[in-house]
Amino acid sequence: MHDKALERVYNFSPGPAALPLPVLREIQRDLLSYPGAGASVLEISHRSGTMDEILAEAEENLRRLLSIPADYRVLFMQGGARLQFSMIAMNLLRGRQSAAQYILTGSWGKKAIVEARREGEVDLAWIGEEEGFRRVPTGSELSLDPGAAYVYFTSNETIQGVQWSQEPETGGAPLVCDASSDFLSRPIPIERYGLLFACAQKNAGAAGLTLAIVHESLLEQVPADLHGMLDYRQIAAQKSLLNTPPVFAIYVFLLITRWLEKEMGGLEALAEHNRAKAQRLYDVLDQEGGFYEGHAEPESRSQMNVTFRLGARELEKTFLEEGQRRGFTQLRGHRSVGGIRASVYNAMPLEGVEALQHFMIEFRKRHS
Ligand code: PMP
Repeated sequence: MHDKALERVYNFSPGPAALPLPVLREIQRDLLSYPGAGASVLEISHRSGTMDEILAEAEENLRRLLSIPADYRVLFMQGGARLQFSMIAMNLLRGRQSAAQYILTGSWGKKAIVEARREGEVDLAWIGEEEGFRRVPTGSELSLDPGAAYVYFTSNETIQGVQWSQEPETGGAPLVCDASSDFLSRPIPIERYGLLFACAQKNAGAAGLTLAIVHESLLEQVPADLHGMLDYRQIAAQKSLLNTPPVFAIYVFLLITRWLEKEMGGLEALAEHNRAKAQRLYDVLDQEGGFYEGHAEPESRSQMNVTFRLGARELEKTFLEEGQRRGFTQLRGHRSVGGIRASVYNAMPLEGVEALQHFMIEFRKRHS
């Protein structure tokens, strides 16, 4: 993957993130003429037979990868994960007597709450902010209302690097999840969810596509007077073709689903691989404690975004500059928290993580 001839770096971007090289090569190969179409995938109608096939296979592959039950619908949308912050509340909270409960474990959840409040009552079931968003709550810390409109959580907070290892127990209210930064990195028990959404530009391809997997029963509750493009029910009824969908990003997503199944061996195997990758970096944080300070508490550590600071803050700049020179890019932590963030999504190979691991150990030796 670290191919000097191609001048490709070890890209630790939080998103849009590294894509698998075989997928990029396939896009390059077929860009001028998609097999059987005689034209680029960028040039064909979204209502053509070719696009029908691309959409159908993409959905089929996703259903197989995640074992999505038949009574869930898969929606291909635009507007990014952030539009979902609004759409969820418009579709599932507007006009409801009961509140929606939000479990707040980081920056993205906070932004979702701002939008939800425009539509109805929001109850914060747990707030991790005073502790600096370092962990997810334990089951006993949550007081969830079975009658809530829904219970919302962010499975992986990309900025803080805090991830849930299992779903919160709602006691009956529909569970809604922003899975943007760990979607397709591990198996998900879809049957536990009412709705789960993710933008594509981390593990699922290119920016422009946002996916939602929604239980049919929730579509029945959607208010009747929503704008078409903001209405899950209409999008589902039109099979994601209410307007021109993000055709190129859907095509890339299709290639990613094939890669996940054929090259990576499915989500169980991938989850194991991702755990092993992240562990290499957490081992350094644990072994070089004091020099490196991990942000998340060990039991809430993200397998996708490894966040840490240097004990000597003034060395962070040097760390980033030296890393950059060695071909480790986009390691700077989010501007709101500072420090370092290594995003190690599906397409980051183990060898890239090992190279960073060795750099971290060697950097510590030189600077302590
Ligand atoms: N939620 C999470 C967890 C994210 O990581 C991001 C993007 N970094 C978003 C939402 C926002 O995604 P988008 O830019 O597609 O709106």
